[in-house]
Amino acid sequence: MRYISTRGAELGSFCDVLLQGLAPDGGLAMPETIPQFSLADIDALHDKPYAQIAYTVMRPYISDISEQNLANILINTYTAERFRNQEITPLSRLGSSNIFLLELSNGPSLAFKDVAMQFLASCFEFVLNERKTRLNILGATSGDTGSAAEYAVLGKKNLNIFMLSPLGRMSPFQQAQMYSLNAPNIFNLAVQGVFDDCQDLVKAVNRDGAFKEKYAIGAVNSINWARILAQSVYYFKAYLSLGITTGEVVDFCVPSGNFGNIFAGYLAKRMGLPIRNLIVASNENDVLAEFFLEGNYRVRAASEVMATSSPSMDIGKASNFERYLYLILGENPMQIAAMQGQLNHGGVLNFVPNTQFASVVEQSGFLAGRSRHQDRIETIRQVYQGCGRIIDPHTADGVFVAQRYLRDNTPMICLETALPAKFSATVQEAIGIEPPRPPEFIDIENKPRFGSVIANSVDELKSFISKTLGY
Ligand SMILES: *Cc1c(COP(=O)(O)O)cnc(C)c1O
Repeated sequence: MRYISTRGAELGSFCDVLLQGLAPDGGLAMPETIPQFSLADIDALHDKPYAQIAYTVMRPYISDISEQNLANILINTYTAERFRNQEITPLSRLGSSNIFLLELSNGPSLAFKDVAMQFLASCFEFVLNERKTRLNILGATSGDTGSAAEYAVLGKKNLNIFMLSPLGRMSPFQQAQMYSLNAPNIFNLAVQGVFDDCQDLVKAVNRDGAFKEKYAIGAVNSINWARILAQSVYYFKAYLSLGITTGEVVDFCVPSGNFGNIFAGYLAKRMGLPIRNLIVASNENDVLAEFFLEGNYRVRAASEVMATSSPSMDIGKASNFERYLYLILGENPMQIAAMQGQLNHGGVLNFVPNTQFASVVEQSGFLAGRSRHQDRIETIRQVYQGCGRIIDPHTADGVFVAQRYLRDNTPMICLETALPAKFSATVQEAIGIEPPRPPEFIDIENKPRFGSVIANSVDELKSFISKTLGY
């Protein structure tokens, strides 16, 4: 399989795009063709272990890792120990309703990002070893990405991670979770600034080509193709877990921010998985819901992005959206480049009903809904009172929106994107109960913390990296 950029550049094979961030032309990596799975192919995956489903789904996209090596990577990644469950992503019914929760948050950092990040780090280690090189990951986090990435690179060879976070601005649990990690290849940098400052620092370092090359700077952000691909696997797994006749359709509802998780669902649909609707759940930061409901895609400035009680969805621009436009508009790089140019200059992407654009959006099966703080609180309460389950605020955004679109006989699968323990203040506000934690997280707030505080300064960041690496 060869990869191309949504804006036209040739990008090489899976391992090549694995190590790239943005494509050189500013676009995102996409496979040249989307492999097709027949209903019989899907049916044959019933009762197979997660790693084997992952192998079948991902294999056609990965031609430059041998069959045996890929199988080993997957078997070592998707273990019951690491994901605290034999099924890796178990599915369970919410009470007697037709809503199902797909549990994606039982991995090391208690959020869905672990599912892909664990695979990504194992692939990095494998490729770096083959190519006899090293990589220094530089990233910025407002919460979940940082700890998922750090847990994933823990103990990996030839791989360091420098993770910037806004000093004092993550939830107490998230801070404790990240800063308590102590390993020779993990560097926590708490920046005197906000999340956007952290992201700007990462961008500034990446603009310095000479520095980037000298220190082999890499990325693990949500546009990484390997993360999308790894996420598409659990859509298949969820479908198989329902126990319905293969071919019957299902709906998925996904709490969304950067559009990575739900785009993986769209990829699964395009591969042949019988998905009818993919429902985007947005919070008050509704750039995505506005597009699917009103037909406008308008990128928000950082200053317009609200801080909400589902903070991992607080975005003003959905980084993976370009991949979706590329697929629905017939894979035409020229058109995508022109559209992005327009968006980058403050433009709005607009589709008018009865146009061809409107009809391809509709055909893609996407629907959307919005949820506000009070909706999350009430949904957490209602799910707890109705079936005794505690859900986190992001998952509550999804369940709230899913209820609106529920139709009698179609199963509705809601993606659980974090465990409630990560956001206990909001959960306590809703039900007055402190959500339980896995044993290793009890008392984490009192563990020693590691890392450094740096000023919001590119020079200080660069000098930290070069001093740490010692060259
Ligand atoms: C990252 C994240 C999201 C948003 O996922 P996207 O792939 O960016 O759309 C939703 N919920 C939680 C808990 C997250 O960590």
